[in-house]
Amino acid sequence: MAFHGSTRPTVCGNLFPASELGHKYFCVNTTAGTTSTGLGATPNPTGPNAPAGTPRHPASLGGSAGGGAAIPQPHSNPASEVPSPAEMEPDRPIGYGAFGVVWSVTDPRDGRKVALKKMPNVFQNLVSCKRVFRELRMLCFFKHDNVLSALDILQPPQIDCFEEIYVITELMQSDLHKVIVSPQPLTTDHIKVFLYQILRGLKYLHSAGILHRDIKPGNLLVNSNCLLKICDFGLARVEEPDPSRHMTQEVVTQYYRAPEVLMGCQHYTSSIDVWSVGCIFAELLGRRILFQAQSPIQQLDLITDLLGTPPLSAMTSACEGARAHILRGPHKPPSLSVLYMLSDGATHEAVHLLCRMLVFDPAKRISGSDALSHPYLDEGRLRYHTCMCKCCYSVPSGRVYTRDFEPPADRPFSHNYEQSMHSVWQGKELIHRFITEHQQGKRVPLCINPQSAAFKTFIRSTAWHSSKVSRKEER
Ligand SMILES: [Zn+2]
Repeated sequence: MAFHGSTRPTVCGNLFPASELGHKYFCVNTTAGTTSTGLGATPNPTGPNAPAGTPRHPASLGGSAGGGAAIPQPHSNPASEVPSPAEMEPDRPIGYGAFGVVWSVTDPRDGRKVALKKMPNVFQNLVSCKRVFRELRMLCFFKHDNVLSALDILQPPQIDCFEEIYVITELMQSDLHKVIVSPQPLTTDHIKVFLYQILRGLKYLHSAGILHRDIKPGNLLVNSNCLLKICDFGLARVEEPDPSRHMTQEVVTQYYRAPEVLMGCQHYTSSIDVWSVGCIFAELLGRRILFQAQSPIQQLDLITDLLGTPPLSAMTSACEGARAHILRGPHKPPSLSVLYMLSDGATHEAVHLLCRMLVFDPAKRISGSDALSHPYLDEGRLRYHTCMCKCCYSVPSGRVYTRDFEPPADRPFSHNYEQSMHSVWQGKELIHRFITEHQQGKRVPLCINPQSAAFKTFIRSTAWHSSKVSRKEER
């Protein structure tokens, strides 16, 4: 599709006023007056990138009565090459990923609200070590507006005391699950711009050779201006080019799980993510989960109720039991016309794209990249690049559009480093070195004030959650 500089689409409407959701997810630092410590920033003016007159959030200045937050003081650091870390403390929990808890925090260096994720149980065993390092490296690798990435990593202690990893990411106001179940109106324009951004982010991930493996509405963060970012890479992995290598089936939240995974196939591709997006597309239209089953078998039954009994050729990779289950049952005709009843927004164009994503045979399912070329997404693309993106800009004569609306990754994500990880201690050294090198030459490093009341609550909640998180390791 072509954009022209003179194109003037309608103004982008906000999905919800920021104030309506903000208080739930944003810390307003109401505890600043009662918390005795924390939120102190002590940037070293001689540090490599210490900005002059760093703006701070008012609360971080400790100006409120009783606030013990340290007023930033220029202090002389004898080891002038090493900047003093700035302390930060968590404010309140904002969500839970597959692995780890996310809190809202204020960056004491600039007063910006950001999200702090604690990656728990890192050094429990080699498997968890590899998983967390993979997620950490991915977060640092990503450079795409529709994929959440790491803004910073908290300074690790000396390696002997190194047990936890804390990552800072952009703070988003809500997620698509909360939006779908809310009473907020969801127009066709909203759906188009959301779907466009999901596929835009997914194209980037897949072009880097990464399978997300847990695409669901709760892992699609959104802002009040409808900007969307894919998050939570706790289950993500690099694609496996060798079809004889087995991959785990312990992936994807059941409602969004592709039929080939439900049928126990040992090897799958990025098309499992496209299936999940198809389910989400239908959920956006109908505002209810498309395939809401109680068990994986019932999940498969609901899928065949809609798509009909698949031909044998679509089940070549399925395990014997799953294939027998399908063949044992009555022959079902497809009933795709019910998709038109999802909502008024389920136009012929919408249902056409939906039916290209919800294809039983993964080899015949549309790719994320090809889905972006579907005419249904033209308006979403126009809207996104007219007033939401960072890749295009306006001049008095009109809009100057980027050359590539949906850029791929500039290189594949490499996981070769995993081959040199043979023990937990070795993993610890590698991760410690990675974080230290990642921070070099960047801003004043951040650390947590472990004495603060908020941090103690944070630790308690993460410990509680960590005990509930238990998943088999993926391959
Ligand atoms: Zn753009």
